[in-house]
Amino acid sequence: MNLAQRAKNYKDKEVPLKLVACVKTTPDTTATVKVENGKATWGDAPLVINPWDEYAVEAALRLKEANGGTVTAISVGGEEARIGLKHALAMGADEAVLISDPALAGLDPQGIAHILSAAIQKLGGVDLAFFGRQAIDDDSGTTPSQAARLLGWPALTLVSVIKLEGTGVHVERAIEEGRQIVSAKLPAVISLVKDIGEPRYPSFMGIRRASKAEIPTWSLSQLGSPAPVASVETLALLNAPVREVVCELVTGSNPQEIAEALAEKILGEKLL
Ligand SMILES: Cc1cc2nc3c(=O)[nH]c(=O)nc-3n(C[C@H](O)[C@H](O)[C@H](O)COP(=O)(O)OP(=O)(O)OC[C@H]3O[C@@H](n4cnc5c(N)ncnc54)[C@H](O)[C@@H]3O)c2cc1C
Repeated sequence: MNLAQRAKNYKDKEVPLKLVACVKTTPDTTATVKVENGKATWGDAPLVINPWDEYAVEAALRLKEANGGTVTAISVGGEEARIGLKHALAMGADEAVLISDPALAGLDPQGIAHILSAAIQKLGGVDLAFFGRQAIDDDSGTTPSQAARLLGWPALTLVSVIKLEGTGVHVERAIEEGRQIVSAKLPAVISLVKDIGEPRYPSFMGIRRASKAEIPTWSLSQLGSPAPVASVETLALLNAPVREVVCELVTGSNPQEIAEALAEKILGEKLL
């Protein structure tokens, strides 16, 4: 069955695709993160949607545009997590849900995956859950696989191309050695890499819509989930070691002289 037929079947059965994008709010990529008094701080740098999660939203929107359906953005966090959710809404997500509860502070990726999978189950009938490949602040890159394990769904990671085929999905995985094409039955978890395509800029209308949108908050009791306990304990946060860099300017009266002096240096240091 090709993609168009599948979409038609979905529409005939009145079961549109249900897509979820998991988004985290992180400091801007230009932020300088430092450790002060044992805590990570990024000063006044703005918070943004985790840049990898823009690809997750983009992939979900493209699949919706080709096949119909809905895209729901979800996030686990405090009030600041609304920033990522509003960005997803401004890009075109249909709705957003924040999962927030004081008992969730200090969760590790396994705990976050536990909450995300409970939310995906509460939404019900989800066909695909999209994740970024990693969060740019904590960088564990494990949340998608852990969520897939908890849901009992296939985990398709580092995906660059997605095609729906019948009741399953074919994807291309971007791995160091090349491309791997794999298929799995729906429902499934997918984490995205950049090759999926440049995320769209939110339109003016999208930003206006997002600014007015009501984002419901689910507490743990509304989720029907007990508070997960972190299984990984962070013992210390340390600043990156300061690297001593010595710069030497290679000079000469013309480009040839400079190139020869540079080549001599490189050979002298046995770099080649
Ligand atoms: C012991 C411990 C204590 C911690 N305490 C805190 C704390 O107090 N405050 C704090 O902010 N962080 C805390 N963290 C870090 C936080 O829990 C992690 O950010 C979270 O576990 C996800 O891991 P990651 O950021 O490495 O995500 P990755 O696994 O790198 O993320 C991959 C993808 O998963 C999805 N994703 C990740 N996190 C979320 C989320 N919250 N909501 C929706 N989707 C998500 C996104 O699609 C993302 O692209 C703590 C971690 C540990 C281990």
